[in-house]
Amino acid sequence: MLDQLEAQSPDALLALIKMHAADPREDKIDLGVGVYRTNDGATPVFRAIKAAEQKLVDTQDSKSYLGPEGDTGFVDALKPYIFGKDATMGGRIEGMQTPGGTGAVRLAVALGKAAGITRIHLGTPSWPNHAQILEDVGVETVGFSHAKADGTADIDALLDVIGKARPGDAVLLHGCCHNPTGIDYTDAQWAQIAQAFAESGVLPILDVAYHGLGQGLEEDVAGVRQVLAAVPEALIAYSCDKNFGLYRDRVGAFYMLARNADALPAITSNANALARANWSMPPDHGGAAVRTVLRDDALTALWLEELAEMRERMRRVRERLAAADEDVPGLNLAALANQNGLFAVLPLSKAQIASLREDHGIYMAGSGRINVAGLHEGNTPKFIAALADVTGG
Ligand code: PMP
Repeated sequence: MLDQLEAQSPDALLALIKMHAADPREDKIDLGVGVYRTNDGATPVFRAIKAAEQKLVDTQDSKSYLGPEGDTGFVDALKPYIFGKDATMGGRIEGMQTPGGTGAVRLAVALGKAAGITRIHLGTPSWPNHAQILEDVGVETVGFSHAKADGTADIDALLDVIGKARPGDAVLLHGCCHNPTGIDYTDAQWAQIAQAFAESGVLPILDVAYHGLGQGLEEDVAGVRQVLAAVPEALIAYSCDKNFGLYRDRVGAFYMLARNADALPAITSNANALARANWSMPPDHGGAAVRTVLRDDALTALWLEELAEMRERMRRVRERLAAADEDVPGLNLAALANQNGLFAVLPLSKAQIASLREDHGIYMAGSGRINVAGLHEGNTPKFIAALADVTGG
């Protein structure tokens, strides 16, 4: 029976990691894997998290089960950062811990489906797992254009989709630091989006996976907050795996905004039931570490400092690339300065991407996505020269 299964193609990024590891060239550059890196190419544990983990080791007296909602202290501690001063919006928001942002996206889609959602509009390109999750849960994906060739967001395409949506539709948007393009909606565009959602009644699903890695903690969720202030209902998927550096610990949260406080318990009870059937309970450790950071003023200050350092480093990389715009005509590197987060997509052909890898030891996804955190002052000139070489600039 199991031999009926057809082999699935291996994850392309994992294959890229192997190729990069096997490359003996000392000046090779890895722009493939989607994790933050320091100037030295490391992805260290945050100092705030190390200290919180130490506290946990010293004080945790049980590892007995929690419930499907996980660590509610963790879920509550994040709320003001995401939702602002009125962090429950008058008792209309509740959340639960999930295995990573991936678990939160899955729960959002599954809960939407349980409530009658049959199609989800998704800006393309997107994080590849979005479409995979939608397919696996059994909801139709309808693509629309996320970005224009000039490196800005295709707001008209989105407003058109929201305006024409029919009952049973939801729209999935990246809250900030769009993966893979780095192209976010401006605050003025978010205002239009919020109004369009309010008028159409279509359900927003907002995926916030890189909070604090774009312009700042408040700035990065300003758009999400505009939408939430305008709509009766929304679902929010949140990841702590990038902004607390917890990747493999799988730390995420899923929040539900209800029409009114009375409607919330029935919604959360459905999310709990779905979580139970999927993973029963989320892994505890990373969420407990985040809660420990956020309940300690000194550790919170340290986390904010570490996050700002990452954000500012990526901003400097973007500015260096943008400054080389004229050295590599045709790639619109200038636009990278106005984009956010870990990623950007360069309009390179398959042959150019292969030449960067084979002739220059520069590794990037086949889509042309680069992880800007793989670049620093030392290797950027080599990267620019290689781009000029393969594009004939
Ligand atoms: N959403 C987006 C847009 C992402 O890029 C990612 C991670 N790459 C996730 C969700 C999921 O993150 P996590 O590792 O926390 O599952």
